[in-house]
Amino acid sequence: MIYLDHNATTPPLPEVIEAVTECLRSGWGNPSSKHGFGQQARSALAQARAEVAALAGAQPVEVVFTSGATEANHHALSGALARSGAAPRVLLSATEHSGFMKAAMRLREVGIAVELLPVDGEGRLQPGALATALAEPAALLSVMAANNETGVLQPVADIAAQARAAGVPFHVDATQMAGKLPLDFAGWGADLMSMSAHKFGGPKGCGALIVRKGLNWPPLLSGQQERGRRGGTENMPGIAGFAVAARAARATMQPDGLRLGALRDTLEAALRETLPGLTVFGAAAPRLPNTLMLAITGLSADRVLDCLERQGIFASSGAACSSGGTEASHVLRAMGVPAADALGAVRLSLGRGNDAEQIARVVQTLSSLAPQQPLAAAAATTH
Ligand code: PMP
Repeated sequence: MIYLDHNATTPPLPEVIEAVTECLRSGWGNPSSKHGFGQQARSALAQARAEVAALAGAQPVEVVFTSGATEANHHALSGALARSGAAPRVLLSATEHSGFMKAAMRLREVGIAVELLPVDGEGRLQPGALATALAEPAALLSVMAANNETGVLQPVADIAAQARAAGVPFHVDATQMAGKLPLDFAGWGADLMSMSAHKFGGPKGCGALIVRKGLNWPPLLSGQQERGRRGGTENMPGIAGFAVAARAARATMQPDGLRLGALRDTLEAALRETLPGLTVFGAAAPRLPNTLMLAITGLSADRVLDCLERQGIFASSGAACSSGGTEASHVLRAMGVPAADALGAVRLSLGRGNDAEQIARVVQTLSSLAPQQPLAAAAATTH
């Protein structure tokens, strides 16, 4: 199998499996219990918090463990609404994660003003539109650090500075950047940041919302855990695995990023040579080193994925979370890609297990899709 769907999820690292198993087997105490066994779990929790904080570029006290990035994003949104006045206004980039977009759209149904900030043809937030939106008071600005479909990076520090100057709380969804590029919560000057363990070798169902120290952010789930910021007995096996994955990511991120970036660039260059109808989305913007979102003129995503899967190669059409539906990616639509072209978009996302031999097989397989006759469909927009 050649797994090219690392932005959907990653295989858990062996040491993560070990840590999760060990926690289930012998570290299963409740960190809230006052006895020694509980205190053992409490100290494991503190250690894990420090590891996650180190990956986030944050302080341990700023880490709130959640059930993943979906919950962290919802926590950012619900907290903003709970803090805001009578007529809250929420600002979101038009390319946010589909789960987050859906939550925001549900707010519209109850009369809350949700404004989607436009991006340019490469998927980068339009600075003019951001400045205009920030001229009026808002309860939250949320922009992802790296897009899950295209890998396109946003200038997070600049956006955070503008939000800070306007007095608008800024949330960054760093789920796709975590473990692939360094995170710098403190240096960016963000107020809130979402992460998820399973995107970099950790277990599913475990993530964090980083909340800037001193910022009073109401809980999504009430209870005494996480200093009253997230109720519910902590997912200790998940948190133990998250911590081990965070530590591993800090150690391997740089060499992995260089290696995967070179593989991705080789793949992209080879496909450009062999496939005349190739479109690469977000190619002119800074991107995650592992991500390549493409379309081949005249071919649907299903056709391309089918051809790949017959060779044992697994990838996704757009966001995995929205696969199964035939709706064009909202990310590509926001970038101005016509719906018909967006329906051909396939995401190849590389990770630890991929090597040059595998990439050569992917090139060979996709090249077999090169048109043998004049292209039937209209040319796709090239980005
Ligand atoms: N945000 C982004 C950018 C993501 O890519 C994902 C996962 N696809 C999520 C949020 C949701 O993360 P989780 O699976 O932890 O709920």
